[in-house]
Amino acid sequence: MVDDQLYKTCRPSVLIITDHHFSNHLPHIIYSSQVTMRALSLLAALSAAGATVTASPVGPAHAPRALSDSNPFVGKKLFANPKWASKLEDTYKAFTSRGDSENAAVVRKVQKIGSFVWVSSRSGLSEIDEAIQAARAEQSRTGQKQIVGLVMYNIPDRDCSAGESAGELSTKNDGLRIYKEQFVKPYAAKLAAAKDLQFAVVVEPDSLGNSVTNSAVEFCKQAIPTYREGIAFAIKSLQLDNVAVYLDAANGGWLGWGDSLPKAADEIATILSMASPAKVRGFSTNVSNYNPYLATKRDSFTSGSPSYDESHYASSLAPYLQQHGLPAHFIIDQGRVAYPGARKDWGDWCNVNPAGFGHIPTTDQSVLQNSNVDAIVWIKPGGESDGQCGLKGAPIAGAWFGGYAEMLTGNADASVKNS
Ligand code: BGC
Repeated sequence: MVDDQLYKTCRPSVLIITDHHFSNHLPHIIYSSQVTMRALSLLAALSAAGATVTASPVGPAHAPRALSDSNPFVGKKLFANPKWASKLEDTYKAFTSRGDSENAAVVRKVQKIGSFVWVSSRSGLSEIDEAIQAARAEQSRTGQKQIVGLVMYNIPDRDCSAGESAGELSTKNDGLRIYKEQFVKPYAAKLAAAKDLQFAVVVEPDSLGNSVTNSAVEFCKQAIPTYREGIAFAIKSLQLDNVAVYLDAANGGWLGWGDSLPKAADEIATILSMASPAKVRGFSTNVSNYNPYLATKRDSFTSGSPSYDESHYASSLAPYLQQHGLPAHFIIDQGRVAYPGARKDWGDWCNVNPAGFGHIPTTDQSVLQNSNVDAIVWIKPGGESDGQCGLKGAPIAGAWFGGYAEMLTGNADASVKNS
């Protein structure tokens, strides 16, 4: 049934009529710690009985354990991008020049927090080399294994609906071939050559959301087959032991409605069947968006959605993925979180004010409280603009927006201040 409430997409240029009649699917949760505990007590029992036991992971004996079978973030430090930290130097200076030592100290903490590195063009492939070099140095300096978060963001006809983040490639100019040959292949080759590092790659933010809800937009309609083929190729190319692939699944405000969830899972299944037998570890959500992980106060526009925060979005989408036999693991961007009431509409996605740096990256299940979630991460680097929209004075997408970085600092989550 379709009701009369209209809902704008994440990057709105069309209005979508949504069905708010949904069933509240609860995932079948088996905590991995419980599985491990069961396995350990079995090992202990066998050992006590004099059996020879080898320390093999849970699962059939001698079965190779694919990387995609375990949470790649556990026990590793999300690489803190020194290039982002240096942009924040201006933010630090802005606070100290005003005598605001409290916020200046928060910036110093933010500079050490892990965040993803965006690779958004062919010339931007050098960002990977720089990240590898810096992560290696950090790994040997600290002795702590790094996980380098990378975003792959250069699909032809990118951002087909909102139009603030158009990229360099177009389907009309042989973009798909160029994407495969000159972007995805060298991208994957760089990761393959850095076996000493672990990577998590977020594949093509927003494309899936546009495929699911924006086929009525002519530019999106013609781009969708390219998105599918390009993303399937990217997933196949990234099947490396040191790479965990997360396909972007938009956010709860975009695809989390009762009628969108099965469509999102169908689209994901289509892409993954094109990539088969290649696999993904899971899905990224809330990339460059502003939804809270766990809502303390529900915004009124979320009424009728089972996905009123990103943890609920993960739980709502999981059973639909599982119906397709797909993994239901998520990483969730909390780089920036809107204050309740900051957005009039769930479709407000651009330089939202007020917002703050969100919960720091973590795999701690006492924080996550959701076994479908691998980690809270920071994907959109806070302070880089979403486009020339939202808070007054915003520069083009990706450009540094100093005033915005200061606002995020002033409103930072307590976990940042305590880090
Ligand atoms: C921009 C990219 C930028 C990214 C991260 C996107 O909206 O289009 O150029 O790298 O945001 O800030």
